[in-house]
Amino acid sequence: MNSKKETKTIPVIYLQGAACSGCVTSTLCSTYPSIRNILLQEIVPGVKLEFIFHPNIMTASGNLAMDVLEKAARDKNYVLIIDGAIPTGENGIFCTTGEKNGKKSTILEEVLSLAPGAIMSIAFGSCASYGGIAGALPNVTDSLSVDDIFLSNQIKTPLVNIPGCPPHPDWLFGTIGEILTNGLENLKLDELKRPLTYYGKLIHENCPRRAWFDEGKFARKFGDEGCLYELGCKGPVTYSDCPVRLWNGKTNWCIGSGAPCGGCTQPEYPDYVGDFYYKIIDVEVPSSQRKEKSKIHDLGR
Ligand code: SF4
Ligand code: SF4
Repeated sequence: MNSKKETKTIPVIYLQGAACSGCVTSTLCSTYPSIRNILLQEIVPGVKLEFIFHPNIMTASGNLAMDVLEKAARDKNYVLIIDGAIPTGENGIFCTTGEKNGKKSTILEEVLSLAPGAIMSIAFGSCASYGGIAGALPNVTDSLSVDDIFLSNQIKTPLVNIPGCPPHPDWLFGTIGEILTNGLENLKLDELKRPLTYYGKLIHENCPRRAWFDEGKFARKFGDEGCLYELGCKGPVTYSDCPVRLWNGKTNWCIGSGAPCGGCTQPEYPDYVGDFYYKIIDVEVPSSQRKEKSKIHDLGR
């Protein structure tokens, strides 16, 4: 008797809005698990993802590819991942997914058509989650986040934001694994719809340079020893697990390589976290560190 359990397959549609392809490049570089594992094997025991539409890796193009979206909208019950912001100016013509019956189909039209029938949706990357670079001022394309599009069109499909510029591949595939293991209803999110597993702590809390911050020892130029706060680090206001997860197969990360955190997982990015290399934020220092607080303010430019 064959006791092997059948594998359940979940269809996934990956749409790209106004974006630079950094987010998708990040996912395709996933190391643990590898993208090969994700595409070909079970992501959790008994469940496999099937990317039925993915602009970067599918072999189909033209009508063959666009027909998949039309069929999916009829059949429903897929996971919808959206990377990139959604241009709404000029009826969304600034970003198209393809053509249907000789007419350009915009990402706005595709999201409005596909989101209501999805089991759940994921806004992947800072542009999809909060507008990001695509929605930065002066935002001539009137690009909006997926959440804004959902709200203004009364789309009730559950939405999880996975911001980052780009986001870490673990944040996407780990979140999907967590949902498949524990259920969407048990996924803990913060008030910005980010999974707490990955965005639950400030970078500043886990930063290996934190002891220097507490001592008031600040780097004055790149390459110096010390905390990077004076060089524009946004770690004190940025939530993500970059310091412990690391990037590129656990090789390194922004602050590890001597660059300040740019605050890329925050909704204020890029317009309101400020210029990358300027200290523009006042940092709340824990009450036991009041002495250091005045020291930090004295160091202002
Ligand atoms: S300010 Fe930046 S470099 Fe300094 S301790 Fe905080 S996160 Fe680390
Ligand atoms: S360290 Fe900061 S800028 Fe770098 S990836 Fe993490 S959140 Fe983004």
